[in-house]
Amino acid sequence: MTTFVDYQKALAEGRLLCSSCKNCNECAIPPRIVCRNCQGRDLVVEETEKRGVIRTFTVIRIAPLGFEAPYIVAMVETGCGAWVMGNLLGVEPDSADMDLMGKTVSITSRITPADTYSIGEIHTLAFELSEHQ
Ligand SMILES: [Zn+2]
Repeated sequence: MTTFVDYQKALAEGRLLCSSCKNCNECAIPPRIVCRNCQGRDLVVEETEKRGVIRTFTVIRIAPLGFEAPYIVAMVETGCGAWVMGNLLGVEPDSADMDLMGKTVSITSRITPADTYSIGEIHTLAFELSEHQ
């Protein structure tokens, strides 16, 4: 069984893990032990491509404690179909517009420090626009 700690270790090594359901092919990131689509338990954990497409985003202008606004949070659809959330880096938040929709991104991770509300320092996903669109 792959745990959240295993997922975190993989991110630290530059790998992105997903679970793929053998019954219905549903993909999930981070890996799950039960399929959210069919509730099946026959899931395979595998490494997935670190690329995706921006499906939606927002600009955060009032940041939670410990974060500095403005910044962009995006939802990205990965090649296996799973959607993941993270910060979009390298784009000036004040210039973000709907042209970002559908853009291809590379998926990376970075360390988010512990704060008052979290369990501690973790690797979180982040995105960077791909060179060729
Ligand atoms: Zn399933």
